[in-house]
Amino acid sequence: MEINIPTYVSSVVEKLEAAGFEAYIVGGCVRDALLLKTPYDYDVTTSAVPHEVKTALDSYKIIETGIKHGTVTVWSEGNPIEITTYRCDGEYTDHRRPDSVKLTDKLSDDLCRRDFTVNAMAYSEKRGLVDLFGGKIDLENRIIRCVGDAEKRFEEDALRIMRGLRFAATLDFEIEEATALAIKNKCHLLDFVSAERIAVELTKLLCGKAAAKILTEYSYVICHIIPELKAAIGLDQKNPHHIYDVYTHTVKVIDATPPVPALRFAALFHDIAKPKMMTIDQKGVGHFYGHPKESAIMAKDIMRRLKIDNKTIDKVCRLVKLHDVRPEANRRALKKYLAKYPDVDTDEIMAIRRADLAAQNPIYHHQFSYLDESERIINEIKKAGCCLTVSALTVNGHDIAELGAKGKQIGDILNKLLCDVVEDKIANEKNALIKRAKQLIK
Ligand code: ATP
Ligand code: MG
Repeated sequence: MEINIPTYVSSVVEKLEAAGFEAYIVGGCVRDALLLKTPYDYDVTTSAVPHEVKTALDSYKIIETGIKHGTVTVWSEGNPIEITTYRCDGEYTDHRRPDSVKLTDKLSDDLCRRDFTVNAMAYSEKRGLVDLFGGKIDLENRIIRCVGDAEKRFEEDALRIMRGLRFAATLDFEIEEATALAIKNKCHLLDFVSAERIAVELTKLLCGKAAAKILTEYSYVICHIIPELKAAIGLDQKNPHHIYDVYTHTVKVIDATPPVPALRFAALFHDIAKPKMMTIDQKGVGHFYGHPKESAIMAKDIMRRLKIDNKTIDKVCRLVKLHDVRPEANRRALKKYLAKYPDVDTDEIMAIRRADLAAQNPIYHHQFSYLDESERIINEIKKAGCCLTVSALTVNGHDIAELGAKGKQIGDILNKLLCDVVEDKIANEKNALIKRAKQLIK
């Protein structure tokens, strides 16, 4: 079995070998190469200690990125390669990081500190594949399995729980039985992991092709991170539009949404306030009035807690808030809608609305034709370059001030003019708008 290593990496490995050290590519890049995927970065593990790496690679630009852990970053043909000395981890007392690390000269020490068998393989052109824990067979059988005793490994570093779920979701692998049981038993240790690291893994998990399966099988892990989701599990919506409980519906919406972080988060949160907002009418039908707005408030809270960036938070909240706004599928109503929500990306909101509908009772799936028609008209409106914002009017604040309007009145008049233009009551043409503005000032 041979792995094709790009020359910018193999040249570095060869230089270390020529200087008398062992060097291998290791971890994610070996896993991805064996899966016939192009690795997006390469890690190298070596018997050379950092100052020996620096001497052996003295013609390269080298940055001491983690010297305490034996890591340097080498720039080769413009690409960074992390080179880490074989190491074993000392004791773990904070359920996240080893208290100390010890550099060693044995590759086997280095491989057994790694999280999963599929991530614990090393390869070199000279020495071939080193696979001490059956990683290749697990890759072939599509299995995520801890290296060594799963409970112990999650106790050492609880982030591995999220990494395990993330790999299972992105690769569409099964989690092996003992590893799955250990996830269950050690899930509470996620409290020791920083919000940022959890958020990184959760984002990748949500965008994985098997996200739905993992979110379903490991709902208790997701609810440990986001306890607000607990009430959605098993909640019967008592509404003809819905044949699934809120959590199952949510997972199905995620599955039907393009694998883009903001969209998948919007899907995750779109109905999170439903349990809180549920009312049941006299006929026993469930309603959720006001849930989009409340879901957006909860989503903001949760995403802030997870330290997700503000741009993503804003986008997700906008989508959640608007996911249930249903303008009629005609030009006038859609122009009003676009003018009212100028910040919303229509492709994104349509993607969420489609996914939401796909996860509802199939007897309502005829509404896809309404969404198709809405999308067609929206594209037409955009293509025609219709005026949808005050700044696109052919008059501005100065023009209105010259007519004698002052202060707030100027803005009010511009907004009224925009409404008239959007509703096709008047053309976006300067003379006509000035005439109308004069009437409004009187
Ligand atoms: P990705 O495709 O996301 O880069 P990766 O497996 O390469 O996946 P990295 O975070 O880049 O993940 O880590 C590189 C390697 O380091 C892993 O393959 C694994 O061998 C090891 N590793 C990373 N994080 C941990 C951890 N928390 N515990 C044990 N080993 C880890
Ligand atoms: Mg990696």
